[in-house]
Amino acid sequence: MFTNKESFKSAFLERLENMYGKNINETTTIEQYMALGSLVKEQINKNWILTKKIYRERGEKQVYYLSMEFLLGKMLGMNLINLGIYEVIEEGLKDLRISLSDLEQQEPDPGLGNGGLGRLAACLLDSMASLHLPGHGCGIRYKYGLFEQKIMDGYQVELPDYWLREGNVWEVRRSDKAVEVRFEGNIWVEKVGERLVFHHENFESVLAVPYDIPIPGYKNKTVNTLRLWSAESAIKDFDFQCLNNRDYQKIVEYKRSTEAISEFLYPDDSKEEGRILRLKQQYFLVSAGLQSIIRSYKKRHQNIKDFPNKVAIHINDTHPVLAIPELMRILMDEEGLEWDEAWSITTRTISYTNHTTLQEALERWPIDMMKRLLPRIYMIIEEINERFCRELWNKYPGEWGLIHEMAIIADGQVKMAHLAIVGSYQVNGVSKIHTEILKKQVMKNFYNYFPYKFHNKTNGITHRRWLLKANPLLAKLISDAIGTNWIEHPTDLNYLLNYAKDPSFQERISRVKRQNKISLSNYIKEKYHIAVDPDSIFDVQVKRLHAYKRQLLNVFHIMDLYNRLKENPNLDIVPRTFIFGAKAAPAYFLAKRIIKLINTVASLVNNDSTIQGKIRVIFVENYGVSLAEKIIPAADIGQQISTASKEASGTGNMKFMMNGALTLGTLDGANIEIKDEVGEDNIFIFGLTPQEVLDYYQYGGYRARDLYQSDPRLRKILDQLIDGFFLKEVVDFKFIYYSLLQENDEFFVLKDFASYADAQKRIDQFYKDQESWIEKSIINIAHSGIFSSDRTILEYASGTWEVRPIFIS
Ligand SMILES: *Cc1c(COP(=O)(O)O)cnc(C)c1O
Repeated sequence: MFTNKESFKSAFLERLENMYGKNINETTTIEQYMALGSLVKEQINKNWILTKKIYRERGEKQVYYLSMEFLLGKMLGMNLINLGIYEVIEEGLKDLRISLSDLEQQEPDPGLGNGGLGRLAACLLDSMASLHLPGHGCGIRYKYGLFEQKIMDGYQVELPDYWLREGNVWEVRRSDKAVEVRFEGNIWVEKVGERLVFHHENFESVLAVPYDIPIPGYKNKTVNTLRLWSAESAIKDFDFQCLNNRDYQKIVEYKRSTEAISEFLYPDDSKEEGRILRLKQQYFLVSAGLQSIIRSYKKRHQNIKDFPNKVAIHINDTHPVLAIPELMRILMDEEGLEWDEAWSITTRTISYTNHTTLQEALERWPIDMMKRLLPRIYMIIEEINERFCRELWNKYPGEWGLIHEMAIIADGQVKMAHLAIVGSYQVNGVSKIHTEILKKQVMKNFYNYFPYKFHNKTNGITHRRWLLKANPLLAKLISDAIGTNWIEHPTDLNYLLNYAKDPSFQERISRVKRQNKISLSNYIKEKYHIAVDPDSIFDVQVKRLHAYKRQLLNVFHIMDLYNRLKENPNLDIVPRTFIFGAKAAPAYFLAKRIIKLINTVASLVNNDSTIQGKIRVIFVENYGVSLAEKIIPAADIGQQISTASKEASGTGNMKFMMNGALTLGTLDGANIEIKDEVGEDNIFIFGLTPQEVLDYYQYGGYRARDLYQSDPRLRKILDQLIDGFFLKEVVDFKFIYYSLLQENDEFFVLKDFASYADAQKRIDQFYKDQESWIEKSIINIAHSGIFSSDRTILEYASGTWEVRPIFIS
């Protein structure tokens, strides 16, 4: 370990020489990054090997977290912090006239996720390692991550995100652990004695090659593994030489189609696109993952019947739900167990997190597609369905309607959420309200049937990345005040309450916030050539673009504010900088129009000198983890304004409060729990309640047109969308206009407008009293510890997985 900077410096210089055959002053920044990465990786390797050895020897229960997404963020800085050598390295590099933060910038963000769901998976990995828990990730190594977003002429343009261009210093290819995954073909059944044996023929074989990434814990010796699978053809290159031309073509086509499986992450977190390939990806992940889990189990244990006591498999949403039939397949077809035994093992091994109640995001697959692509798996799902429906019939004889509604296969489709609930021992929602809505509405039939399965695990975020790393100035200030215990026990942040009214602490907190705002202003200035005032309120909404998240409500308020400023340029408001960041799914037309609208309003507002710079609107391109780390520490307000009942939890909300921003939000997802923690005076709540929204959906009674008629502010804004107000624009915003008036405003934007505008006015007034604002800010930070993913993970570990820490020494 680099205990002093001198030993680091000489190792670093030598590494540069060895890797590139150059002296330090001839190397490029990227080469310096790669050399540093490889040195750090080497440090991690020792404990990685040790951890694996101890896990193997002890034979205690392991957790595998299966997820189609891991939105990791850059790893260099985080690894240095976890190893406890960030400062030493920074100092050593400084001697060599190299800035560590410049090197950190060289690392591409692994774009292996869309948004909250993938980021949660990354936070949970960090917490498992930091809490000494033997928990591993299992995912796909997409060659292209989520697209890179550019804004051109106000429109989103998508460029490929080839994040692996320079290679990935953190991964190790493990060809020796490759497994085969089979698609298509046909099944024939043979009777051998008393048993039915299933043979799979004429299948397409795909080679799954794992790439392992070490996940070190915070200042401990635990190094867990994130295993990402890459799809390759099962053909060796020498096979090519002895082929005639026709076969050659066929093989090239086969190679292309197998490699396509791990080519792209689907850039849509609500609807499924490119459906066949997406289904292939799901089975690819699950089959490769389970084969390797079982292989490693068999190295440690004799008896497959003990599997649920030694392995917990968690599925992040329904995307990996084929783990259920795949585990059944392996247990029966390969391990020779009977159905009942296999089913008992499976349903004691798998647990499931539900992430959404949006109907369009509940996965369903056409029977035909699944049957053709995964013939054996489909047979097993059919059998699970038949047995489940029989059970239902016994409990609810004659209730055809109910049984049809709960069936796993119905109306020509396989309902993945139903399969997940039936085949797992626990189902959890991700915030209290979300879990209640699952139990009382969306999954109420299942809750009535399996009440014991449903639990809540409110999401969390790792405070190590989102405070310690993202906001070093604040982290230092906190440690100066209350010591460093909060890093290992985040609820210790509570001690900050003693300082909430302390004028000198308030003064320092506000200096840190101002410093972070200046840094962000500099970034904006450099990148977009727009000057923003660090003394204005930084009012931020950064998250995926979706109608239910209601970026539209935010823009409408800006349009109204602008309209009022035009009427009265002397309007007395605190200057405001509205900051947006959001990617829209490429095929999501409404979302893309909303991006265009935000940018259109931005250029109107930013270029109108008559409003004296009182408002500025910034849309930052390509929102992702690294930008979040830059933006959130600079926020005064975090907007969490989804239609109540629609946001399962949100985790952006937690990052903002932890960095001292106040929440402007609806009673939705974890906002409710944030409000309960900080108290009503320290959060800005507005809008319909979840129950009110659900009642409108159920009983009707909302007419958007009435609001257009009765609220002159709304009429003006809506008219401006279509009357040529944005004169230079060739496009108008008819599509948005119609979604609100013709389609009756599904997400209650107009309905919540008045209440939202009021809340915004309160913010303006409260901000003028800086002392009390800073006090609120400190209260938010002080209560954020409970939203650390350490708390979430401890709940999963004891309440779901029944897994215990293993101390590596
Ligand atoms: C936290 C995070 C999200 C989730 O944000 P929400 O506001 O909860 O939707 C999405 N993207 C990135 C990059 C994040 O860091």
